[in-house]
Amino acid sequence: MEKVVIIGTGCAGLTAAVYTARANLEPLVLSGTMPGGLLTTTSIVENFPGFPEGIDGYELMTRMQQQAEKFGAKVRFATVDSVDLSARPIKLVIDGEPVETESLIVATGAGHRHLGVPGEEILEKKGVTYCATCDGALPMFRNQPLVVVGGGDSACEEAMYLTRFASTVYLIHRRDSLRASRIMAERTLANPKIKPVWNTVVTEVLDPALGKVTGVRLKNLQTSTEELLPCAGVFVAVGHLPNTQLFKDVLPLDENGYFLTTQGSATKIPGVFVAGDCADHVYRQAITAAGMGCMAAIDAERYLAGLNQ
Ligand code: NAP
Repeated sequence: MEKVVIIGTGCAGLTAAVYTARANLEPLVLSGTMPGGLLTTTSIVENFPGFPEGIDGYELMTRMQQQAEKFGAKVRFATVDSVDLSARPIKLVIDGEPVETESLIVATGAGHRHLGVPGEEILEKKGVTYCATCDGALPMFRNQPLVVVGGGDSACEEAMYLTRFASTVYLIHRRDSLRASRIMAERTLANPKIKPVWNTVVTEVLDPALGKVTGVRLKNLQTSTEELLPCAGVFVAVGHLPNTQLFKDVLPLDENGYFLTTQGSATKIPGVFVAGDCADHVYRQAITAAGMGCMAAIDAERYLAGLNQ
């Protein structure tokens, strides 16, 4: 029987792991399919306090895991098949193996939102990607025109990163101003290799018949005119969807699928706590996820102390 199982090894999950491990709860921490979470796909993180020079996202997450393991967290590369929250103890099936736990911290994060246009799915990994840091340096993108879709911090970050490889980066945004933070927006628009295309959406990715990206069909939302823009890659950065599907029938979610909490990190089920991007559609920062992980760990610790009184 585990005292705490933590699902997720992003900032929230690993911070919860550090705190629960230091409280001698020996947490079992499950990585899911993306160990280290979304931050491992970013390049330099400049706004995590304590790193004035910035820190590589992958390195930050590796260090967090080492910190948790140093205090006794058991980090496993594993995914949860199912959960049963209907009785105590909580029952999980992890990679086919049943596990019981007194408390559960869900920090499953969020995944990339897709455009949902023709050609996108079939050309995924053949020129359509959701991560510039992961794929931007591939030979097929070198010295080629590339497209980034979106107007938030992620889109700006992706566009800036891709200027290292691309001949030109077209930033396709559905409005005429960026949603990104001011510093990111200013840097992006000042980069001579980035060409913003305003009030425009991608309606199709070409060319599935050739098995690779050759261009995108664009539609200007103000004039309804369409054009074909040749490019070798499409980097989609239009936000995220919370990874909460496993819990959709057992924990309350808001209309966008994010976990709803009762007090602090608590859910309506005693002993089940949530933290990070799966429970936050507002702030969604590395540092806020870490803070929520800390809250969930403290809440779980108090819950367990209450059980033993
Ligand atoms: P976001 O802020 O939600 O931005 C998503 C962008 O995609 C918006 O510009 C949105 O347009 C556009 N969009 C959404 N659905 C679309 C669709 N179907 N077709 C076309 N465009 C669509 O997401 P994000 O950029 O991934 O950022 C998420 C969070 O992480 C934010 O809180 C951000 O600050 C944070 N973040 C921070 C950093 C950093 O500080 N270095 C880096 C990356 C992310 P509208 O603007 O019209 O809604």
